[in-house]
Amino acid sequence: MNLEITGRIYDIQGFSVHDGPGIRTSVFLSGCPLSCLWCHNPEAIPFQYVLSYTSIKCIGIEKCGSCMSVCNFGAIKKSKLSNSQLLEDKITHVEIDRTKCTNCLKCTTVCKAKALIPSGQDMKLGEIMNKLMKDKAYFNGSGGGLTVSGGEALSQIEFTVELLKAAKSENIHTCLDTTGFASWEDLKKTLPYVDLYLYDLKHMDSNKHKEFTGVPNEKILSNATKLAKEGAKIQFRFPIIPGINDSVDNLRMTGEFIKEIEYAVELLQILPYHRLGLPKYDRLGKINILKDLDSPSDADMEKHKNFLEAYFPNIQIH
Ligand code: SF4
Ligand code: SF4
Repeated sequence: MNLEITGRIYDIQGFSVHDGPGIRTSVFLSGCPLSCLWCHNPEAIPFQYVLSYTSIKCIGIEKCGSCMSVCNFGAIKKSKLSNSQLLEDKITHVEIDRTKCTNCLKCTTVCKAKALIPSGQDMKLGEIMNKLMKDKAYFNGSGGGLTVSGGEALSQIEFTVELLKAAKSENIHTCLDTTGFASWEDLKKTLPYVDLYLYDLKHMDSNKHKEFTGVPNEKILSNATKLAKEGAKIQFRFPIIPGINDSVDNLRMTGEFIKEIEYAVELLQILPYHRLGLPKYDRLGKINILKDLDSPSDADMEKHKNFLEAYFPNIQIH
C-alpha cells in the first residue's frame, strides 16, 4: 500500500448520512469529465484548483486589503457593494474580475480570513487514512464506512484504487459514488475493493444526456451492465430535474434499464433537484442557468416513485 500517493481532494465530510448506508466519511475528489447543468458541486468539476471567494468572510479592505496588493493581474478590486453590519461598522469587500483572474491562487496565501481559498487541496493517502481511522467506531456502530465521491473519482483511478484498497485492509465498508463515465478497464480495477456502487442515471436518451451533461451515455450504461454481470452491488441514483429528465418516456426507459439488471440492484434512490448548490456558483464567479428552476413537489416525487415501482420495487425518495 502506498500511503504517500497524493490525491486532488476538494472536500472530506465526516458523519455523512446521505452517501450510502450508515454513518460515513465521504472523500470528494476534484475533477469530473461531466458538467451537468444541475451540478451542486461545481467546484469539483475542474481538474485544476480554482479560486473560490466567499464575500461574507472578507473582513474588508479597511482592515485588510492584502489580496489587492499581491494580485499581479489586477483582478481584485474594491466591491461596488459595501456591507454595513452595524451602522458604525462599514465594511467594503473586494470583488474578483474573472476575466482577468488566471487562478494563480497567490491571493489565497495572504487571505487570513479564508474568504479567498483554492477549490481543493492535495492530500496524501496516509493523511486521509488517519482521518478515517478516527471515524471507524462510528462506521462499526452504524453499518457505515468510506464513500469515495467527486467530481468523478475514476478520473484519479490510481489514487482511488489505493484509497479503496487501504480502507478494505482495515475492514472498512466502501462505496464508490460514480457517474460511470470511465473506461471499463479503470472501473474494473475498483471491483475487488468496492462493497456498493452508488451509480448515477441521468438521462436514457444519449443525445439529451450529452446536451445536459456534456457527454453521451453509452459508456455509462454499458459499464453498469458489466458491473452487474461481474457480481457488483449497485445503488442507482436518479436526480429528478423538472423539464429535463422527468418525462414519462425517460422514466419508463430508466425503469426498463434497471429491470434488466435488477439482480444486482439493491436500491433506486430518486433525488429531487434542489438549489442548495447555487451559492457555490457565486463563489466561483459562475452563473447557473437552472438558477430559477423549482424543485419537484413532494406529490410529483411520489408520482414518479409509483411509476418506477412497476419496474423495480425498492425505491427511496432521498
Ligand atoms: S485578503 Fe481576504 S479578508 Fe483581506 S481584503 Fe482580501 S478577501 Fe478580504
Ligand atoms: S487567483 Fe491570482 S490572478 Fe486570480 S485574483 Fe487571486 S492573485 Fe489575482
